[in-house]
This record gives sequence, structure tokens and C-alpha cells, in this order.
Amino acid sequence: MCLICDRIGMIRRGENPYFVRELETGYVVLGDHQHFYGYTLFLYKHHGDKTELFHLAPVERARFLEDMTLVAQAVSRAFHAEKMNYELLGMGDAHLHWHLFPRRTGDIGPYGNGGKGPVWWYPMEKMYADESRPSAGELAEMKQKLQTELDRVFGPAETGAGKA
Ligand SMILES: [Zn+2]
Repeated sequence: MCLICDRIGMIRRGENPYFVRELETGYVVLGDHQHFYGYTLFLYKHHGDKTELFHLAPVERARFLEDMTLVAQAVSRAFHAEKMNYELLGMGDAHLHWHLFPRRTGDIGPYGNGGKGPVWWYPMEKMYADESRPSAGELAEMKQKLQTELDRVFGPAETGAGKA
């Protein structure tokens, strides 16, 4: 059982409220929690035995990295990041997926190294607190902002919501 595959299944059924756009190599979704305003994930379309970047054929890897880079550009513009952070983790869920965090001065408060450091040094219970979940209205606004910038970098989406 893979959480990312579950979420992709929801996207394909039109049941994932965080889904923003399908690209050639993956799906753009907003994060469930938005302490880092604009936190977005880019989920690789396939799982199977492809769980490392070095498992991908070079052309496919280049496409995946290019898509991710342009998603990060759109996220940065949509949510006015000072700096983007990019992470490909996956000890819990091996499915290739990027965490794209817009960073701003002071966003981890006093934590980390005097307020500096990776997002994961912000306390987990705060990062995943219910107050960090966007309301339906906030989520709709964020999706619209991100869609507008994704349209600028990738061209308009071919279809509306859900899988073509
Ligand atoms: Zn998976």
C-alpha cells in the first residue's frame, strides 16, 4: 500500500481536492498543511520499482526534473517565495515525489539554528496542526493562483479538473 498511489487514484477519480494539474511526468498537488504557505508536491506518475532518480532512463529523468523545476517556478511566483526548497525524500513512501516549499524569513520561528534551517526543524506537531489546514475557500484561492502561474510556464491546461 502506497499513500502516493492512493492520492493519484483519488486524482484519477476526480476525488482529490488538492489536485491542481496533471503534467507529462506527474501530478501537481497542494500540501494538506500550509504552515509554509504554498507548499506543493509533485508526484511522479509511476511507482513500481522506480524509486530512485537513478532508476529512471535519462530522457525520462530529464523530463521529470524539468517538470519539477517549472512547477517550482510557478509555485515561487504564485506564493511569492523568497527562496524555494526542494526535497525528494521517501523513507516512508518510496514513490518518487518532490516536496516544494516556498521559504520566507522567520518561517520556522525560533527553531532550528536560531531560526535558520530546513523546514523539518519546525516542530512536526505545529507543521501538521489542524490550524495549518487551509479552509475550502483558502484552498480554492491557492489552487487558482497556482493554476494561473502553471498556465504561464506550461501553457493552458488541456482539460478542466481531473484526468483527461
Ligand atoms: Zn506509489
